Amino acid sequence: MSDRNGLARPGGHGGPRVLTVANQKGGVGKTTTAINLATALAAIGERVLVIDLDPQGNASTGLGIDRRKRDLSTYDVMTGERPLADVVMATAVPGLAVAPSTMDLLGVELEIAGEADRVHRLRAAIAALPAGAYSYILIDCPPSLNLLTINALVAAQAILVPLQCEFFALEGLSQLLSTVDQVKRSLNPELRIHGIVLTMYDGRNNLAAQVVADVRETMGEAVYETVIPRNVRLSEAPSHGKPALLYDVRCSGSQAYIRLASEVIQRERRLAAAAA
Ligand code: ATP
Ligand code: MG
Repeated sequence: MSDRNGLARPGGHGGPRVLTVANQKGGVGKTTTAINLATALAAIGERVLVIDLDPQGNASTGLGIDRRKRDLSTYDVMTGERPLADVVMATAVPGLAVAPSTMDLLGVELEIAGEADRVHRLRAAIAALPAGAYSYILIDCPPSLNLLTINALVAAQAILVPLQCEFFALEGLSQLLSTVDQVKRSLNPELRIHGIVLTMYDGRNNLAAQVVADVRETMGEAVYETVIPRNVRLSEAPSHGKPALLYDVRCSGSQAYIRLASEVIQRERRLAAAAA
């Protein structure tokens, strides 16, 4: 099976590429990255689904899904009440759909704690999607290494980690990476680190440049070349229910996410070549 570029997809099964956006630290840019990377991928013709796996529901809101219209949500998927295809909603971006979340998700962990398949729920739900429905699935995670995030790591082929350009950027990363390692060893051997994306870079702040240098030195090639600048348009866009790429495509934040999407695709090609 090959994708629209004629390249075999890693794993060779022709299914969607599933990327999890995760970091247990709060407010580092996970949701902003999921929304805008998804939009940039859709803009170049990919068929993209964002799965909102955070009870805060910020990805759903940022993609314009009113809370009152979320009759079905990822809660219903995680509890096994509904197939994922039933909860998917269209967005204003052609080629981009979202599986919205609600606060109900907060209770899921307790509700399914006793179930044998509790860490495989999302993976199974994605596997049951109609064949060929999506070429990319991006999962937005809550700021926690809880059962929801574990489900997202079990369901994904790769993890994308946003790191905020601040003094303690690397704090907590080793815990995240060791969780990834554990999931890889016990639950999902194909899980890879897609990349680390530095976010909210403020060029006027000397410390920020030092943080970028430190993270590049520590994490090497895992770090994407693209650095996402601190840009007020990125933070304004969600209140308009729009990805920044629709709200203001020319702003520095949108342009950075377009570059990130092209890097993500380049890495995908390398992964595909390595798997061939
Ligand atoms: P949480 O852990 O709560 O889910 P998160 O990691 O998903 O947070 P975001 O919601 O994407 O982080 O970002 C946190 C806040 O910072 C939001 O208000 C968002 O609009 C803003 N923000 C994110 N990236 C940028 C940026 N590059 N420039 C300016 N503001 C940003
Ligand atoms: Mg978020």
